[in-house]
Amino acid sequence: MPCPLAPLGIDINSVKGFLSANEGEALYRAAAQASTVGPVLEVGSYCGKSTLYLAAACKAHNNLVYAVDHHRGSEEHQPGELFHDPSLFDSDAQQVDSFKHFRRNLQTAGLSDYTVAIVASSSLAAQRWQTPLGMLFIDGGHSLKGALEDYRSWVCHLRRGGLLAIHDLFEHAEEGGQAPIAIYRLALASGLFEAVDRCDSLGILRRL
Ligand code: SAH
Ligand code: MG
Repeated sequence: MPCPLAPLGIDINSVKGFLSANEGEALYRAAAQASTVGPVLEVGSYCGKSTLYLAAACKAHNNLVYAVDHHRGSEEHQPGELFHDPSLFDSDAQQVDSFKHFRRNLQTAGLSDYTVAIVASSSLAAQRWQTPLGMLFIDGGHSLKGALEDYRSWVCHLRRGGLLAIHDLFEHAEEGGQAPIAIYRLALASGLFEAVDRCDSLGILRRL
């Protein structure tokens, strides 16, 4: 079933972000499936593009998405870097601030009631986390240290039968950074996961 975002009154193409429509649909399907297992947690929300797909599935299946992001941007979003967006720069604070955009987009789509925003770094949010998860979507910082930290902080909370989705998987360094695929391979090598779906640069694994 395709993700019903259009009737929710938001034009997904107008939302800033880094997810293709096909990847968004694959995330939606995964979250819909995982909803019987437990709630969804995403690391890296930015302006909420991926969150919208996850929250739409949560709305349809009586579930919740925890959206973890400090909203200060990754390395590549900082001034002078390749993916810096001046419209997300708070000149008073002299820092990137994607939270305003995130909140507005979720509100416009009427999906705020299915989304718990956690404005904190991934490692801080994980410190006292206890809730078992049905789905984990990792799309935060793309340094190897950051990706490994996200993997180690959150994967232990994923229930058996739950889904692990990782964005920005590139086989070769010429296509893109190698940290996300490093944790994807780590998950497979652990023997705890099987690959269940692949769409553009999004990979989905099931916790055995
Ligand atoms: N999923 C989004 C894109 C996320 S971009 C989409 O669909 O468009 C990566 C995001 O990760 C940025 O917003 C950045 O602020 C966040 N991020 C990077 N490192 C983080 C960390 N250590 N803790 C929390 N958020 C982090
Ligand atoms: Mg990404």
